[in-house]
Amino acid sequence: MTDILKHCTLCPRECGVNRYESRGFCGEGAAVRIARAELHMWEEPCISGTRGAGTVFFSGCDLRCCFCQNYEISHLGKGFELTADGLCEAFLRLRDMGAHNIDLVNPTHFLPQIIEALDRLDESLGIPVVYNSGGYDKPESLELTRGRISIFLPDLKYLDSTAAAVYSGAADYPERAFAAIHKMFELVGRPVFGEDGLMKSGVIVRHLILPNHRKDSIALLKRLSEEFDKGDILISLMSQYTPVYKASEHPEISRKLSTFEYKTVMQALEQSGFDGYVQQASSASEEFIPAFYGEKYY
Ligand code: SF4
Repeated sequence: MTDILKHCTLCPRECGVNRYESRGFCGEGAAVRIARAELHMWEEPCISGTRGAGTVFFSGCDLRCCFCQNYEISHLGKGFELTADGLCEAFLRLRDMGAHNIDLVNPTHFLPQIIEALDRLDESLGIPVVYNSGGYDKPESLELTRGRISIFLPDLKYLDSTAAAVYSGAADYPERAFAAIHKMFELVGRPVFGEDGLMKSGVIVRHLILPNHRKDSIALLKRLSEEFDKGDILISLMSQYTPVYKASEHPEISRKLSTFEYKTVMQALEQSGFDGYVQQASSASEEFIPAFYGEKYY
């Protein structure tokens, strides 16, 4: 499967580079690089549970969000290399620490290597795998996850392609992300929960409300409600936006969310009829950004 990397078209950037010899837009070659693999309590309650998600943060990214909280690893390339054995070891270590699942953060550009690791472990992993991406995914690449990944946790950042171009360098983001979410739903179906309240399979769409963009948030929720039935997907509405990294270059998103903006979008979520989660504005702080590592530390 890693042959795909010889002419990489894994994500919508479709660079076509040989990642064994060079790097594409995501900044990553053929070797897997991660910056952290730890239990994580800050995902949605049905993912973090009581013991935490087994979160693996991958280096590099196919987007260039100017407000990225993880810019150290997504834009600046912090992280350390893992062999195929090393990636399996990281997954098993998290499982043995008590993780409820393996939570792959920003996995899109390392999908073939991740699939190979999961295939090696096969049934022995014994916990669900979560695909936690920025939403800039191709249906053809997502097809590779069939039968291997049971929970999708994609972002849906914008409906407005101008905002997508200006803030993430991807004018085609809205159409790509909607197509990806449809594919994710086709792969895993409606949400399924265990008796412990934890998610076993399904799709949770995350939307981070941006300051001065409440109308885009409302339009995005409306489109979701036109394209999906209420029980198909869950929505996780995030109001903890913090202007980090290069957000200050754009005055309109250089502040936290106002109560008015938050309440208006909340109302739209209620009207949409979707079930889901709301992350409070009180978690809008850089303190919630975990530590990342440039060398293997465990
Ligand atoms: S995964 Fe990286 S190299 Fe491959 S198409 Fe996307 S940005 Fe380009």
